[in-house]
Parts: sequence; structure tokens; C-alpha cells
Amino acid sequence: MSSASVAPRSLTRPVSVGGVAVGGGAPVSVQSMCTTDTADPDATLAQIGRLAGAGCEIVRVAVPSAQALDGFERICAGSPLPVVADIHFDHRLAIESCRRGASALRVNPGNIGSWERVDAVIDEAGAAGIPIRIGVNAGSLDPAFAEREDLTQVEKLVGSAASFVEHFRERGFNDIVLSAKAHGVPTTVEVNRALSRALPEVPLHVGVTEAGGLRQGTVKNAAAVGTLLMEGIGDTIRLSLTADPVEEVNVAWDLLSAVGLRRLRPEMVSCPTCGRCQWDLMGVAAEVERRLAGVRAPISVAVMGCVVNGPGEARDADIGLAGGRGKAVLFASGEKIRTVDEASAVDELFAEIERRFT
Ligand code: SF4
Repeated sequence: MSSASVAPRSLTRPVSVGGVAVGGGAPVSVQSMCTTDTADPDATLAQIGRLAGAGCEIVRVAVPSAQALDGFERICAGSPLPVVADIHFDHRLAIESCRRGASALRVNPGNIGSWERVDAVIDEAGAAGIPIRIGVNAGSLDPAFAEREDLTQVEKLVGSAASFVEHFRERGFNDIVLSAKAHGVPTTVEVNRALSRALPEVPLHVGVTEAGGLRQGTVKNAAAVGTLLMEGIGDTIRLSLTADPVEEVNVAWDLLSAVGLRRLRPEMVSCPTCGRCQWDLMGVAAEVERRLAGVRAPISVAVMGCVVNGPGEARDADIGLAGGRGKAVLFASGEKIRTVDEASAVDELFAEIERRFT
């Protein structure tokens, strides 16, 4: 895809999460997190199957207690995606997850309890050969920074992250991904810019945490993560939504497509219509969008209201329709194919998509 307007990606030290490269110029990977009970591996694997079908590349699963470990092991064994164990508070769960098949750990050193316990986790991950995502958030900063009144919140987050990274490195562990999450857009952007400057070699996992429901969360993530990606910051993304996690994956792909970094599915180009429109563009666009959900080709599909911008947009797209009175012109790969009746236009469009792109 064209990335003419995206800043060059920061070159970070790559790590492998179960075979998916994160950092080092690898494509920005899409993550999500299961909402199912880890102690119910059948339900969790079913959800992972849906996430994989939507294009998720790395999945995170909570390991909240020792009762979840058997389920976690079965999930790792049956998952088509690399599974990251999400651990808080209890370092023994992190250690055991390494032994049960985790492809990576996500821990927050600030809530593990002591450096000795963090070190035990580091050593076990090192023995298993898996990376660790170091999570930092306002609620669990390095104590050396938490009480500093002379520092801003962003400075505390970055200072904590830098001190955690330094500790891991001193322990001889370099397979690190870093995340510093905030629920506000300006803070998310500011802290990730600062991390990228302070630790330019460490891959960043970016996203707005606790972003809200589907609409508000999509807007917040698009604003913050879109800004960062356009600046070349971010190696892997998780767009948190209070919604079916499949929606997180759909939104992540739409965002990657919108900023010109990756495209998995079709992108529809459609006008808002106006008083010049002479066909049922709203209805046609809704039907095209519905049917495009089943198409995996990374193509652009234009659906335009009239001849003012219609033919131009339809020509620029891989395929498209430009409407007129009861008719539409079908374009593909920059060429006018034929004029079709409005009633059969969508069927003709999809027949052409199938013939050319699938
Ligand atoms: S393409 Fe035509 S109908 Fe659509 S917004 Fe532009 S002028 Fe209006």
C-alpha cells in the first residue's frame, strides 16, 4: 500500500511472539484480548477462532488465578494464534504460564511485588525463550517515580518504563515490548511520543485503554493510534473497546488501512450524497458494504452518487460504480467496463469483483 504520508517507521529491536515479528520494521500487527473465562478453554478457543477469522494476529488471555492454568495450557495447545498470558500481581502465575505454552507474557513490574519476584519471571521467560511486554500505567508506577511531585504524569510513566527496561537489560533480558497506556487521547499520544524518543529501540504496543464502547472507543483509538502510526510510532496495536473483541480487530484493520500501512479487506470509497444524486446511493452503499464483509481482497471499491466526482473516484479505485438516473457506470482498474441498470448494479459489481479479485 501507499504510505506516502506516513513518517518512516521507527526501527526497533524485533522480537518474535510465537512466530509473529513485532518491531524491526515488521508490519504493524493486530492484537486483541479474549473476554471469555480462561478456565473455559472451549469457549475461549471458539472466540480465538472468531478473532483469527477477522484477522487478529496475536491474542491475549487473562491468567487471573491458579485455577485458570489448566485451561490456559489447553488454550495454548489449541490456539491458531500466539497466546500472550496477561498476569497481574502473582509472579507464580507468570512463571507457570511460561511452562504451559505461553508465546509471551504481559506483566506490569510495578504490581508484581518485588524485584526478586520480577527477576524470577524474567529468568523463566528467558529459559522459555519468550518475550515480555512490560506494561506501565498510572496505577502501578516504579515507586521511585510514583511520589515525585516535580514530574508530570507523562514523565512519571516514561521514567518508570525506562527504569523497568533498564532493570530487564541488566538481568540480561532484551526481548521486550513496551506499553504505557492511558485512557485519554492527548496523554496516550504524548507518552508514546516520549517513549519513542527515550527508548527508540524498544518496540511499542500502542492503544487507548478503557476507551469506551464501539463508537466512542473507535474515535479515541483512531485519533490516538492513528496519530502515532502516522508519525511512525507503534509496532503492534490493540484497540480496546467495550464490545465484542472481533470489533477491535475490525477497527484495527480499518485504521491500518486508513493510514495507508496495511490492508486486509476492501475499503469502500463512497460520497455522502447531495442534491445532485440521482440514484439510491444510500441503499446501494449499504448493500455494497454488507456484501464486502465477505470479501477478503485488499481492494478499493468506489460507490458514487453522480457524475461530478463519481467517474473520477470510481476510476481511481480498483473497481467502482458511478450512478446516474436509473443507471450506473461500472469501472474497474481505471477503465469504464459498461453501463448497467440501477436494479442490477450491485450484482454486476460483485460479479466483476469475483471475476477480477478473488
Ligand atoms: S459525487 Fe455527486 S452526489 Fe455524491 S456528493 Fe459529490 S456531487 Fe453529490
